[in-house]
Amino acid sequence: MNRSVLYLAAALLGAGAVISGTFYYKKPEIPAAAPKIQFSEKEEKMADTNDENASLPQTEEEWKQRLTPEQYKILRQKGTEMPFTGKFLHHHENGIYSCGACGNPIFVSDTKFDSGSGWPSFDEALPGSVKLHEDNSHGMKRVEVTCAKCGSHLGHVFSDGPTPTGNRFCINSAALSFKQP
Ligand SMILES: [Zn+2]
Repeated sequence: MNRSVLYLAAALLGAGAVISGTFYYKKPEIPAAAPKIQFSEKEEKMADTNDENASLPQTEEEWKQRLTPEQYKILRQKGTEMPFTGKFLHHHENGIYSCGACGNPIFVSDTKFDSGSGWPSFDEALPGSVKLHEDNSHGMKRVEVTCAKCGSHLGHVFSDGPTPTGNRFCINSAALSFKQP
């Protein structure tokens, strides 16, 4: 599947939600031969309710109830998962990676590459899907990536990417959800 088809799929996801008023993702059917990713009960529930019209939590307490402890720590408290531990590091299916907090489509699978960093890496985000912020924490100068819709922390972006975009979005697996188009 080429990138333009995935972009189209992502655009349709957004348009469909706006037009119809209600929108539900189809659950991904993972082929028997593919490695099965284990989702927690809470994540499964999230996948069912991740539509564009679902109201976003207003307080951190509500976020805490909606997310798993690991998701909460990363998405809402700007945490970082241990390298080489995330469920999407070696994930190679075609589809769309969305914000794990609100379901906002962020990356298409064709932009994913193996950076060797230990975190899922992408060379391009969907237009308007993320916001970038200067981050001088931990004695480093970095650029933080947050979800443009809900403000949750996703990871960082660096300008040393090996592809023509030059971008290396270094993203926590726990900050993402995945859907096949
Ligand atoms: Zn979000």
